Amino acid sequence: MIAVDLEAERKEILRRYRRLLRKAKPFLKDNDAKLIKKAFNLSVEAHKEMRRKSGEPYIFHPLAVAEICVEEIGLGTTSIIAALLHDVVEDTEVELDEIKSSFGPKVAKIIDGLTKISGVFEHGSSQQAENFRKMLLTLSEDVRVILVKLADRLHNMRTLGSMPRHKQLKIISETIYLYSPLAHRLGLYAIKSELEDLWLKYTEPEVYVDLVAKIAESKSSRNRFIKSFMNPIVDELDRTGFSYEVKGRPKSIYSIWNKMKKQNIPFEEVYDLFAVRIILDTPYDQEKAACWQVYSIVTDFYTPNPDRLRDWVSTPKANGYESLHTTVMSRAGRWVEVQIRTQRMNDIAEKGYAAHWKYKDGMNPAHESGLESWIQKVRDMLEQNDTNAIEFVDDFRSNLFSEEVFVFTPKGDLKILPSGATALDFAFDIHTEIGAKCLGAKVNNRLVPLNYQLKNGDQIEILTSNKQRPNEDWLRFVATSKAKSKIKDTLKETKKQAAIDGKEIVQRKLKQMKVPFDGDVANQLRAYFEEKTVTDFYYKVGRGLIDPSQIKNFKDFKKERQKSLRVKSKDFEYSDDFKKIEDPGKDILLIGEDMDVLDYRYAKCCNPIPGDDVFGFITVNEGIKIHRTTCPNAPELLSRHGNRIVKAKWMSQQQNAFLAVLRIIGTDRVGLMRDVTDIISNELKVNMQSISIDTETGIFDGQIRLYVNSTKHLDQLISKLEKVTGVMRVTRHDSREVN
Ligand code: MN
Repeated sequence: MIAVDLEAERKEILRRYRRLLRKAKPFLKDNDAKLIKKAFNLSVEAHKEMRRKSGEPYIFHPLAVAEICVEEIGLGTTSIIAALLHDVVEDTEVELDEIKSSFGPKVAKIIDGLTKISGVFEHGSSQQAENFRKMLLTLSEDVRVILVKLADRLHNMRTLGSMPRHKQLKIISETIYLYSPLAHRLGLYAIKSELEDLWLKYTEPEVYVDLVAKIAESKSSRNRFIKSFMNPIVDELDRTGFSYEVKGRPKSIYSIWNKMKKQNIPFEEVYDLFAVRIILDTPYDQEKAACWQVYSIVTDFYTPNPDRLRDWVSTPKANGYESLHTTVMSRAGRWVEVQIRTQRMNDIAEKGYAAHWKYKDGMNPAHESGLESWIQKVRDMLEQNDTNAIEFVDDFRSNLFSEEVFVFTPKGDLKILPSGATALDFAFDIHTEIGAKCLGAKVNNRLVPLNYQLKNGDQIEILTSNKQRPNEDWLRFVATSKAKSKIKDTLKETKKQAAIDGKEIVQRKLKQMKVPFDGDVANQLRAYFEEKTVTDFYYKVGRGLIDPSQIKNFKDFKKERQKSLRVKSKDFEYSDDFKKIEDPGKDILLIGEDMDVLDYRYAKCCNPIPGDDVFGFITVNEGIKIHRTTCPNAPELLSRHGNRIVKAKWMSQQQNAFLAVLRIIGTDRVGLMRDVTDIISNELKVNMQSISIDTETGIFDGQIRLYVNSTKHLDQLISKLEKVTGVMRVTRHDSREVN
């Protein structure tokens, strides 16, 4: 046991509590401080026997969450109290009623909401989705539940180091899958970026450390560049009498990493590592004019790229973001993004929703409608409560990610839809009836089909027909969850009717064949036709997608199957469910809590090889599949199907071969191809599965699929290939197809 100095700990707790109070001070009114003290005392008492995984007193966590609420989100007393008590009802003896009588119904309601959505990781996938849905339900009542939850998540991510690896994986996946998009949608830019950076830190630790070092290294040269870039602008701003501040902040580590991956380039070649930000101190009613005046000054010195002008000052984003962005050509021959905004806009960009409230008085009402209308949309979505929870989370998530497209009705009313929305989405947005009867549309007076993708500034007139009816295809044409759920509702009705018809047909057919009809037979038919549910089977018969005459074949099949089943069940007595791999020369991958040697397959989406960080996923039909933790599908699998994840770990390197994909880029020359293949097949004795090369522009761009033994082997191969004359870069490539 480690000796704990309780007296020192008590002092530290008090020190942290006073720091919280100091930060909250500007927000406090009347007897707020007294209430916070009361909440703190209750929390200290309730958690006094508990410690975090790191060994620290538990109270450090609620204190830190409260501090994030104040300092990083800009929340006030109610949220501070809720944050201090957020784990009390869940983890200790304290009852919700006690909180209600001590702190009032508002605090109690928030804590109730937070309690309902905790314990997310202990349950299976649908439970988790259901929890998430519950959390959003509380959004319509009090958005502070989500804000405190985000603060809670942020602190848990910051202190993730002391968690076991498999818990880390689940937590980070859920964070990247749901919480960071949610933070983004609420305009909490700083929190969103930190969550993403932490995700990278625990997903690819080495890459992360490397990037942090490189960003630090390039800091002084970056500052020099910004200084000389801003020089003429600063002079002019001073001359005009602006009060301002200039910042040159590097982009988040995660976004730099994303760029490197997407464009397949090293750190040194990411040119927009940072943006220059000019923050103006301007009264509210002069903001717009001031921003454009500064834009005019900037573009007097540097030529702007006309395609990169973003005006979120006139039309803010739906998450409340306001800023004027332009990208200009610097004298060093590089594009530089310049963001022009006021102090108020900057606060909103960093702190999101809460900062919005702070500035609400005297604000243009049109500007605050974005977020309000988003919350209204979430409310609408929640009312469609017959979709299952997982589907709901998916729908919700796709809405979180979307950026907007601005379009107009024939009368000139502005409608904001997620980008990717179609004419059909627009129709459903106007009215369900109009959507259901939509035949096509006229966009800017030109006839377009239902699936036409809307562009900014389009003016849309919907054409309807009373004979029109939604069909399955429509689901592929829409991007909004509102349209999707309305179409599904209609389809469900039609499907129900088709299934009733289908059942009658099946019963008639069986009667002819003299097979008695019951639930067992229905289920065997379902299995024979490989349908998911009996209703699906009936539906297909009803719609004529399954020919009833095929049911006759089922009868013959049934006889055959009974014979073979008898043989099989005998075999089963001799072998286990899972075949053990015993050949000592072969690869050993240990799977599950007990680290067993089980049968598995490699997922085709990420082609893991020994040495990779991996996990197992229990599939419905194909046993355990092994994915890399960096697989593009990993966040979804880990966060949505937590209960189907099993741990997996390599025991030792082995002689077997694994498929890896390499991308080779270089300048083409005669014989380059031969040199590359020589190294692969002769020198290193590697088997190639396929090679494809594009040399059209004098650039050699090849993709080679080959078999290697391990990551070490692969690294060896890469460094050899990089030495070939003409080859500029060799990288391992993930194939993105979903497996
Ligand atoms: Mn917590």
